[in-house]
Amino acid sequence: MAEPLRVRFAPSPTGSLHVGHAHTALFNWLFARHHGGTFILRIEDTDEVRSTEESIRAIYDGLRWLGLDWDEGPDVGGPHAPYIQSQRLDLYEEQYRRLLESGRAYDCYCSPEELEERREIMRARGLPPRYDNRCRSLTDEQRAAFEAEGRKPAIRFRMKDHGNTVIHDLLRGDVPYDNSLIGDIIIRKTSGFPTYHFSVVVDDHLMEVTHVVRGEDHISNTVPHLQLIEALGFEPPKHAHLGLLMGLDRTKLSSRHGATDLAAYREMGFLPQAMVNFLALLGWSTGTEDEIVSLREIVAGFDLDRVSRAPSVFDFGKCEFINGQHIRTAPIDQLIDIAHPILAKAGLLETDLSPARREWLGKVIDLMRDRMRTVAVLTSWARYFFTDDYEYEERARDKWLRRPETPGTLDALANDLAALESWTAESTEAGVRAVAESLGIGGGKAIHPCRAAVTGTTVGPSLFHLLELLPQETVASRLRRTAELCRSGALAEPGPVAEP
Ligand code: GLU
Repeated sequence: MAEPLRVRFAPSPTGSLHVGHAHTALFNWLFARHHGGTFILRIEDTDEVRSTEESIRAIYDGLRWLGLDWDEGPDVGGPHAPYIQSQRLDLYEEQYRRLLESGRAYDCYCSPEELEERREIMRARGLPPRYDNRCRSLTDEQRAAFEAEGRKPAIRFRMKDHGNTVIHDLLRGDVPYDNSLIGDIIIRKTSGFPTYHFSVVVDDHLMEVTHVVRGEDHISNTVPHLQLIEALGFEPPKHAHLGLLMGLDRTKLSSRHGATDLAAYREMGFLPQAMVNFLALLGWSTGTEDEIVSLREIVAGFDLDRVSRAPSVFDFGKCEFINGQHIRTAPIDQLIDIAHPILAKAGLLETDLSPARREWLGKVIDLMRDRMRTVAVLTSWARYFFTDDYEYEERARDKWLRRPETPGTLDALANDLAALESWTAESTEAGVRAVAESLGIGGGKAIHPCRAAVTGTTVGPSLFHLLELLPQETVASRLRRTAELCRSGALAEPGPVAEP
């Protein structure tokens, strides 16, 4: 790319960081990093009522968590500071003035109630509810009368009435829009704040943004933007509108489809590298069969010509699958750091972890990592590592715990294992096999009931490596407890059905 590439992520801080916004941020960041360009973070807080500091923090936290750094932005500064629009109000004044002077903008005294009333009438007539441009040519007397009523004007931009505005979209080609469908738009509210349409155009120009990459839901906004750019005599940036994110039912992604807040994925224990991988695949493809890639590999292989304009399905199952693949190779310390607070919150692990307990947790995770799609499963189907309070699944009851010979087998296992002098995977294996031999049964007939009793499940990692990670007395007492429950008939009732 010949020119120095400058892109921006420009969120409105009016809530949590939606995964759709994270997706847009990621694609801009990848585009910048691939081409050695500049990635700008700009906070578009022109909605004075809905913008919050908390939301700005959520944006910083979310981007940092994903590993997306910005070269210019509110906290890091840059040549076009400030990067928060509410701190740029003075800069916009000059541009309103230019439009007012050239006759492309005018004062509008219509009140919100009047506008709503007229929109209602248009809707009732089956017309698109656009502004009827009635303040376009007010006489001095009319203006004076409004002022005398105490009304404060907004500033409106005079949109073109005829012809088409054509968006040259890098992903979609030329997209024409009929100008007659859009009425004049407000660019400065009565509060003195700009509207999004205006500040985005002015700031993209002042910040020398070369490419505007954003979601498809913004495509119709590009019509007033292009007209404003032309009226202000600015050079238009190149536009690329990314395909929408949809739920599995092919409707626009919303909270109906599950978690749409990026922070929720962090809380659920998703790895940032997996989230980045998953989000990148929503519209970009690796070009090979292998979809599990690192951020570095994505940067190397990313370009807009590999990005599809088609909508992408945000499939939670795929997100989990990708997370599971990354868990296999993630550094153990990262997995411990993610798992610990989740386990502590669930009351399964102490808040202050001693070095020995941390090392133990690392061993548990290592043993489980090939089977986990998220580390949060440690609190559900692998909770037996942390507590005696686990359930006996129906499969375990049905296959092993309701057999008449099982209580005897479990007692024998308890006695033998409790007497072992060393407690390792090797010694427990030898112990369990010795019990099978003494009872004259095959190894499996001791191993499976042992697993069912000590974990409540029929599936899991190598039994002996698992036993090694539990205290010897815990294993013995669980075997005895389960033998009792078998005898008392408590396990004759149907048990819960296993998740995985
Ligand atoms: N502030 C807009 C939003 O949060 C994005 C603006 C843009 O990318 O042009 O949706």
